[in-house]
Amino acid sequence: MRIAKAFLDDADVQGKLAFAKSIKIEFYGSLALTGEGHGSSKAVVLGLLGETPEDINPDNADNIFNEAKEAISIKLLGKQNIDFCYKEDVISKKDMFLDKHSNGMKLYLYNEAKEEVFADTYYSIGGGFFVTEDNFGKELTFSYDLPYKFKNSRELIALCKEHNKTIAQIIYENECVINGKEEVCHMLDNVIRVMEESIDRGCSKSDILPGGLKIKRRAGGLYNRLTSLSGTDQDFDPLFVVDWINVWAFAVSEENAAGGQIITAPTNGASGVIPAVLMYYKKFASRKFGDIRKGMYDFILTASVIGNLFKTNASISGAEVGCQGEVGVACSMAAGGLVAAMGGTMDQIENAAEIGIEHNLGLTCDPVGGLVQVPCIERNAMAAIKAVTACRMAMKGDGSHFVTLDAAIETMYQTGLDMQAKYKETSIGGLAKCCMINC
Ligand code: SF4
Repeated sequence: MRIAKAFLDDADVQGKLAFAKSIKIEFYGSLALTGEGHGSSKAVVLGLLGETPEDINPDNADNIFNEAKEAISIKLLGKQNIDFCYKEDVISKKDMFLDKHSNGMKLYLYNEAKEEVFADTYYSIGGGFFVTEDNFGKELTFSYDLPYKFKNSRELIALCKEHNKTIAQIIYENECVINGKEEVCHMLDNVIRVMEESIDRGCSKSDILPGGLKIKRRAGGLYNRLTSLSGTDQDFDPLFVVDWINVWAFAVSEENAAGGQIITAPTNGASGVIPAVLMYYKKFASRKFGDIRKGMYDFILTASVIGNLFKTNASISGAEVGCQGEVGVACSMAAGGLVAAMGGTMDQIENAAEIGIEHNLGLTCDPVGGLVQVPCIERNAMAAIKAVTACRMAMKGDGSHFVTLDAAIETMYQTGLDMQAKYKETSIGGLAKCCMINC
């Protein structure tokens, strides 16, 4: 969605959009092999119409997409009428990978005479981020003079110790320079709101997920069972908290699988982990700690910088490093975030984040039918439980640990590079292959 809109915005700025009379979009590699199941075609059409992930009404998205699929013309960015035939203009080149990244995409605009007037190549590098062909591999230029600069977790922790500040404080102060204090709080509130709303929506549904696998949503039924439990039932089952973490992770992951609105944390496929652990903190773990809102802010600020360390020094793209870069990273982020919310030390945060990724190393991406359902939905719940366990392990110790977070991040990346392509979001290996034969 972002790529399609950015492409047209760019064409508009360069005065080319006004000449457009038709368009062609080509998906390559993993984006082509799993794009239909991942909703990429729908997203790109919505982006052409000028929609953004932040502002789109998720309840209208399917209608808008279906209308465009049937239409013979559409209005690019709501202002330039072109001829459009979804079946011919949105193409998946499943047997071709672009050189630089397995999630490749090319877009072309043509004039009345069918001559190309504007074209560009993009790579979707995970978590809603993308780069153009020209910018691939280049360091982002950043015009802000941030008070705290760091490249890895070792430097971040050293800064915290030097300035006697928590990770959350350091990230908050950096963010305030970029966005201003009021906006940062607004953004944090917004992230929490969208996460909680996606939990609520998911917990109210028990229908069949789209895509053809006929997978029934489980969050609604499990939620109803849990809310009907008496206090005595809960006393007899000391692990009932685990069911709650599962239901929250299911709820968000099922919303994602149905194309609903979620927060990419760090990616859509892994979007159930952090809300589930954040809700665990809010409902169960925060009881001993006074200011719950502050705890949630600390959680998100800490989790987001951990995710950023992975994105900067490795990858958060399943197409590049497998599911360890998506659900594994979400687990690491949630583990570190939870320790921060519970008042743990910097060393305990690093320890939890490192445990969170260490025990997801090698996790492949093999979604059945290219849909983000099997194994993805349960995998989010399993990672949320692992994150809580990682937090508890770290907080029962004094923070000292053998494997550094930087070493674990580097290991994840190298493991991803060594992984065979069929296990990296292509749906031609692993469960995706065996299930199609045996399920
Ligand atoms: S297996 Fe993991 S990385 Fe692959 S689609 Fe599912 S959640 Fe995403």
